[in-house]
Amino acid sequence: MAPAKLYNELLPLKLSFEQLKQNGYPFWCSTSSQAVFAATANNKKDWAAPNDFYRKCSRCSKGFYLNPDGTANAQKCVYHHRAKWDPLTGKKHLPCCSAKPGPSTKGCLVEDRHVFSQSWEDTLWEFVVSPQAKGKDDHRSNKVFALDCELVHTLNGLEVARVSLVDMKGKVLLDTFALPVFEVISFNSTFSGVTEKDMESAISLEACRLQLFQLINSETLLVGHSLESDLKALRLVHHNVIDTAVLFSIVDPSRSYILKLSLQNLAKKYLCKDVQSEASGHSSIEDSHTCMELLATRHLLSVKL
Ligand SMILES: [Zn+2]
Ligand SMILES: [Zn+2]
Repeated sequence: MAPAKLYNELLPLKLSFEQLKQNGYPFWCSTSSQAVFAATANNKKDWAAPNDFYRKCSRCSKGFYLNPDGTANAQKCVYHHRAKWDPLTGKKHLPCCSAKPGPSTKGCLVEDRHVFSQSWEDTLWEFVVSPQAKGKDDHRSNKVFALDCELVHTLNGLEVARVSLVDMKGKVLLDTFALPVFEVISFNSTFSGVTEKDMESAISLEACRLQLFQLINSETLLVGHSLESDLKALRLVHHNVIDTAVLFSIVDPSRSYILKLSLQNLAKKYLCKDVQSEASGHSSIEDSHTCMELLATRHLLSVKL
């Protein structure tokens, strides 16, 4: 199928301006040359002012303070992996042990440092906008690619450690390790699949984005699962997005709010596939493939991929 035709078929599924705002996607403010986010309760907590050293651990939920120079002292972090919700049974379970999920159970895992997702506010000035198309024959326009990043915990919240771009046929166009700017607290290897050794071949985030810009421009349709996290960590503003977390979200009748299913649950439900179950952590290539496959099931394309 011609790429331009596929692009036009999928274009109606892209997030609207309102959806980008509601789901925490970065926007560009040209007057101050920085990224801005819609003022939602969640977004407010993402960026810390220079005098705000308070952080909340994303594993054990404990609050703590960074040192005045931005470093973090060793503090015991006792936690469980995040509870997983099974859409088939409607129940939550812990993937790490047999304890019942809930605030009363003591964690089964111990690390010597807390981790957090909040970044320094001045990071907003490091964002860039994906490049404009160079004329109407730009090879990057009218393309549909899946983007996925693996993130690691650093002293500046979540940073990118691996970026991958896959086309609709599953061909890997880019798979690069990126070196986080700040000191890494945890590689989060169980989930990211990234290890310290991978950093030996890593390039800078800037170089990584330049490689990405050889393949995408602002018109490229990017497919991903909760792509706002990837774009935030890539420090990139890009608005032509199909987000499988939004596309497949369900309104929970009992709690009457929109529920986003994990990629793992979506793969189980719609593709009858177990993903992210590798002992080495999941890979961004696998995630990108899964997003593309999900899209093919949801959107009845008139022509096969
Ligand atoms: Zn902790
Ligand atoms: Zn546990």
